[in-house]
Amino acid sequence: MPIARVAINVPVDTLFDYSAEHISSSDIGLRVSVPFGKKRVAGIIIDVASDTLIDSKKIKSIEQIFNETPRLPKELLDLFTFCSQYYHHSIGMVIMNALPATLRTSKPIKLPKDKISWNTMQLTLTETGKQTDLTSIPVRQRVARNLLNRFQQSGMISGSELKDSSPKIKQLIHQWLICGWITKNQRPLTTNISNNPPPLLTIEQNTAVNAISASIGQFNVWLLHGITGSGKTEVYLRLIATILEQGKQILILVPEINLTPQLEAVFQNRFPNVNLISLHSGLNDTERLQGWLQAHSGQAKIVLGTRLSVFTPFHNLGLMIVDEEHDHSFKQQDGLRYSARDLAIFRSKQIDIPIILGSATPSLESYYHALNGRYRMVKLTSRAIQNAALPLIQTIDIRMHKATNGLSQPLIHALHENLAEKRQSIVFINRRGYAPVLLCKACNWNAVCTRCSSRLVVHLRDKNLRCHHCGNQQQLSLACPECGNQDLAPFGQGTQRVTETLANYLPTARILRIDRDSTRQKDAWRTILQKIHDQEVDILVGTQILAKGHDFPNVSLIGILNPDNSLFSTDFRASERLFAQLMQISGRAGRANNKGKVLIQTEFPDHPLYWALQKQDFDTLAQSLLVERKVAGFPPYLYQAVLRAEAHKIELVLNFLQSAVNLAKRNSFIELFDPVPAQMLRLKGMERGHLLVQSTSRTQLQAFLSEWQNQLHTLSSHKIRWALDIDPAEL
Ligand code: ADP
Ligand code: ZN
Ligand code: ZN
Repeated sequence: MPIARVAINVPVDTLFDYSAEHISSSDIGLRVSVPFGKKRVAGIIIDVASDTLIDSKKIKSIEQIFNETPRLPKELLDLFTFCSQYYHHSIGMVIMNALPATLRTSKPIKLPKDKISWNTMQLTLTETGKQTDLTSIPVRQRVARNLLNRFQQSGMISGSELKDSSPKIKQLIHQWLICGWITKNQRPLTTNISNNPPPLLTIEQNTAVNAISASIGQFNVWLLHGITGSGKTEVYLRLIATILEQGKQILILVPEINLTPQLEAVFQNRFPNVNLISLHSGLNDTERLQGWLQAHSGQAKIVLGTRLSVFTPFHNLGLMIVDEEHDHSFKQQDGLRYSARDLAIFRSKQIDIPIILGSATPSLESYYHALNGRYRMVKLTSRAIQNAALPLIQTIDIRMHKATNGLSQPLIHALHENLAEKRQSIVFINRRGYAPVLLCKACNWNAVCTRCSSRLVVHLRDKNLRCHHCGNQQQLSLACPECGNQDLAPFGQGTQRVTETLANYLPTARILRIDRDSTRQKDAWRTILQKIHDQEVDILVGTQILAKGHDFPNVSLIGILNPDNSLFSTDFRASERLFAQLMQISGRAGRANNKGKVLIQTEFPDHPLYWALQKQDFDTLAQSLLVERKVAGFPPYLYQAVLRAEAHKIELVLNFLQSAVNLAKRNSFIELFDPVPAQMLRLKGMERGHLLVQSTSRTQLQAFLSEWQNQLHTLSSHKIRWALDIDPAEL
């Protein structure tokens, strides 16, 4: 009897064998229900074999094959396999993580029915449909056979021809749409019938569109590096139009869809007759399943989604776009710790289509690949709208202008003036990357680790300095080794009570504070945006969330508090992120025809990062940051993985990590550091620690991790939870 090899949602990276009577390789990708222990669980057939190592008396058989579930295409199964191997996560868990909840159950599902407008619809046979063997339909299902035959003869049948058919035929049509044998089109597909004609491209946009169009049918990673307001979206729109004309689908990945309702409107406006769906966490199970099925069958032409949608099945994908590719929300921070951007690149290579990474401030990884020729870079260096001037960016030296509760007088003064002119302001509080470091303000010396060149963190209680990167510890001395300055103090302060202080200084201003909590609820963000647009707010106070891509047309002043924390952070990516954020938030000022102003409160007005920002010069900064990374030995010049562990007591965690170090088979390609307690030790009642591994060879690192992971399983106890994090976004 043939054997189905099935992936199941368990943390063991193996397939499970089951016998099944009528099964063949054409059933690969189907969902099944199988007995597992005492339970019945869902699985996906990954392979069909003729024999198994399991004793023929012990092997169990598949309980049910869900034929009505669409089959996962091979291309998607390949992506899952790659993802499982690369991130060292079991194949079953990878798949179940990616599927809509409804498909993770071991029960048959009621598939949502598509609305078919029988009068205007065209039904077209797909490639899958063409390849379906007529004889695979049992002879007694005469109606189905005849219908398929009819489709295979003519390729297309109009809805009006079928509208008076039997309910049975209509039922079949619904089912085949779901299976992807046929697709439906509303009217012949035309693009650009919106009321507003698209703008004339700028010269730079035109060059970008032409360059990318010229090689549209093949794999290339394009880095579209364009300053905020340079019109990257218009470049996407033109290329999307070309792909749509070829009858293909487009996947657009965005950092957070709740923050970008504007984008959806832009796409739908330009292509009013094209079926566009958004996939994001705000959908309920049915909506998600519906969207997923439409992408699978090819009905949805444009899919706009957050990181999880990189796992969407497509019928005929022609282009992928990753907007704001540098954004860290593309990396999942728990469970399967995948990078949607990196998986998207893998996927486009595998199916040989182009992918566009768009950003005003590319990640140094992508930028590096563009410099060394692996990616192709196209640039937009000026704003698309004529007269839209770049904002004026200035620093306020808070060594001269002391700040009270985080706010300096020149900033308060500017806020006053802006309020008097009835314009809106933003006060942006940088909270990223804060840990107390030792810094000499006389000569800018800072304490770095002798072993790995990370900045050391001050632990006042233990009177020492500790490297959160490699675990090294050093004596805490309070005199500067460079210039002898005697009063070194831990650097960096928090910014509490900004809102209250503002209210004191500006009693008539309407101040709105925005943070994660105030936007968590559904539609909360929409309400806030509406308030801002209706001019019911004068000053917005907030953290990172304000930096995301919104248009605030009447905002003309932006004050930045605490940016220096990131300049001297222990996280080597903090400067890169600070720059990205400041660029992005500066882009909020003066979008329409009013020139914006950005005021940065800093103790280091001469720092190269602020110079680069004032000149909007990403390239110079990126190149100097890359040199630093190369010297210090950080990515992209090497590859990292982190073993993360947590338990109720940190001692348990550190013991576990130490045993992990002890049993690792070292070789000259692998650098293995010491266990370190996490920066934020306790989270949700657990204490956490980690261990960094790095290598200049990705292949060597992967080989090491595979073997190490197997050994770690022999170590683990139920008291410890651990996971590998490949290409960690932070420690
Ligand atoms: P980015 O995404 O690069 O920050 P946007 O795509 O938001 O920039 O474009 C900024 C503004 O410029 C938008 O209002 C857009 O409609 C407008 N725009 C884009 N391209 C053109 C063009 N060729 N001519 C006129 N306006 C344009
Ligand atoms: Zn000094
Ligand atoms: Zn170190």
